[in-house]
Amino acid sequence: MPEIKQISISLIKTLLVSVVFASAGHFLLQYPLQEGIIVMTLIQIIIFYVWNTYMEYRMRVNESIQETRRVIEYSKQGVEVQCAHCKALNFIPVRLDEENNFTCDTCNKPNAVYIDITIAQSATGINKESLSVGSYVKDKEAAIKEISDKE
Ligand SMILES: [Zn+2]
Repeated sequence: MPEIKQISISLIKTLLVSVVFASAGHFLLQYPLQEGIIVMTLIQIIIFYVWNTYMEYRMRVNESIQETRRVIEYSKQGVEVQCAHCKALNFIPVRLDEENNFTCDTCNKPNAVYIDITIAQSATGINKESLSVGSYVKDKEAAIKEISDKE
């Protein structure tokens, strides 16, 4: 079992450090050896505990910072759209390098998303939203059919 091996190794290291410091205290300051070993071991346990608590705290802070960043990035690249089946609003990430299909949170039915980008001269101003993600499979098919019927 690797855990037991690891724990044993760190216990031996802790004891070794205790023995070294207690011996130094014993020879230099005539401090009792056994007491020195016990005190040094306790001090190390306290230091490890404080250090581990601090590292855990730092890890948690880091995680929440990254989570916040992820949410910010996600909201930059997403848009709220209506489900083609039940008209419920869904917030979906939008990507240009792959299909943006999504399953409705409310009715669990699949939706396909078509992105329509409109270019205009920036000086003239535009009435239309520059990026609209509101067309769905049925609408798109119907529109294509309508256009081709007229031609
Ligand atoms: Zn739906």
